Amino acid sequence: METTLRGVGVSHGVAIGEVRHMGTAVLEPPAKQIPADEAEREQGRARQAVEAVAADLVARGNLAGGEAQHVLEAQAMMAQDPELIADVDRRIAVGSTAERGVYDAFAAYRALLANAGEYLAGRVADLDDVRNRIVARLLGVPMPGVPDSDEPYVLIARDLAPADTALLDPTLVLGFVTEEGGPTSHSAILARALGVPAVVALPGAGEIAEGTVVAVDGSTGEIFVEPSQEKRAEMESASAARKAALSAVTGPGATSDGHKVPLLANVGGPGDVPAALEAGAEGVGLFRTEFLFLDDSKQAPSEEKQVEAYRAVLEAFPEGRVVVRVLDAGADKPLEFLTPADEPNPALGVRGLRSLLDHPDVLRTQLTALSRAAEGLPVYLEVMAPMVADRADAKAFADACREAGLQAKFGAMVEIPSAALRARSILQEVEFLSLGTNDLAQYTFAADRQVGAVARLQDPWQPALLDLVALSAEAARAESKSCGVCGEAASDPLLACVLTGLGVTSLSMGAASIPYVRATLAKHTLAQCERAASAARAADSADEARLAAQAVLSGE
Ligand code: PEP
Ligand code: MG
Repeated sequence: METTLRGVGVSHGVAIGEVRHMGTAVLEPPAKQIPADEAEREQGRARQAVEAVAADLVARGNLAGGEAQHVLEAQAMMAQDPELIADVDRRIAVGSTAERGVYDAFAAYRALLANAGEYLAGRVADLDDVRNRIVARLLGVPMPGVPDSDEPYVLIARDLAPADTALLDPTLVLGFVTEEGGPTSHSAILARALGVPAVVALPGAGEIAEGTVVAVDGSTGEIFVEPSQEKRAEMESASAARKAALSAVTGPGATSDGHKVPLLANVGGPGDVPAALEAGAEGVGLFRTEFLFLDDSKQAPSEEKQVEAYRAVLEAFPEGRVVVRVLDAGADKPLEFLTPADEPNPALGVRGLRSLLDHPDVLRTQLTALSRAAEGLPVYLEVMAPMVADRADAKAFADACREAGLQAKFGAMVEIPSAALRARSILQEVEFLSLGTNDLAQYTFAADRQVGAVARLQDPWQPALLDLVALSAEAARAESKSCGVCGEAASDPLLACVLTGLGVTSLSMGAASIPYVRATLAKHTLAQCERAASAARAADSADEARLAAQAVLSGE
């Protein structure tokens, strides 16, 4: 029977398909004894599971390519280590079940590795992953990590970290539903980057059985479990009508009276460029370079590798603007070689620009690579620093850019309330601002962006957040400099009109949102956007602000 659940819709569109769960930690198998005459069969089961997991890891490696392929092939070899398999056999011969034998043999090997010097100790996490996969297969429970499926599916997870998603096959994921996470979580950002519908902050999602058909509406936040044929048809035709209406509006972003607001794309690397071009992005407003650093958390990618990736993005936008953000490591994107391991509160610790200023060699390599990548290209390169707190931060970043001989505009992200409050002082050092409204909301409301329970406070319609946007935009206007938004706030079509009314000069978002924002902006004049912005700022809550802006924009 059809039931309806409701979370927070964070990426437009409709997805209908079978549920696959992102597997979580594997439980310890019970230590029960088996009779001696079952040992041979159990040993066979264990060996079969090992072979299947190794083959699967190799297949996933082939799919992923690059550095990930090496990691996965190394894991496949670990799984088939003859010493380990011999130990599993021995344990089963004296009464363990296959799953318990695997579990204990890996535990013994793990202890050996953990004590065998830094390099091998670093492989412990890989070993645990291999063990979890073999035990999950033996127990018949979902594999940890990305689901094993050849058919397209709707992914349900607690939340998705950037590292979880590196191996996700975008052609198989129809949509996402997560229990945790708010509108600015990585699950939401990834869904928009892939252009698939998504709903977050839905606590009951984990209980939907594997294989159940669901229909996800990423605009309303509704999930229909076992939808009727009529419901499916209704959703599919509404979604097709919306898409047709969108493709009717094309060209650069502008209000109906011609006030230009460039619509730019947020990208994580060259792989996101085709979708950005297809959506008609006028450039890139946020190139999140940390995705290049996720392949190997122990060291930065080489200068050559960085030049290649940056050039691939820069080349795609001749005469366009490409805003590259230098590495934003720490907190929700930790990197072993940069992020201190013992911070009591990583979101308030050494992250973003702070960690780059502590590791000037990493910043220098990145800036040099950018400079080389842009050589001879007609692109307008802009480079910005994440997590700028004050003028001293902005100056340190601008100095580093100058020292690296970078021919580009230097800018600061406004993600910390202090930067919005003192935007004019920061603009004495840099040439543009870019509002990272995801972190700005997190720090303004003391609400972790990864925690679904505080999603209400992460809502970018909060009037206090709009006040900080207005302060930054006014400061930029007074200094005749630009102030864009590259946080997820820019991808909400109605809010995009309000941001325009607040004086923001460009909007950058996941490519899939660009047509929605373009179409909505084209329906309203700048004066209407300004009135909607005043109405939203006069409200006392995010919901009231949304309604007030809606009333202004639909009433005229
Ligand atoms: C932001 O904080 O709004 C932002 C754009 O950066 P990220 O989401 O990568 O932290
Ligand atoms: Mg940020």
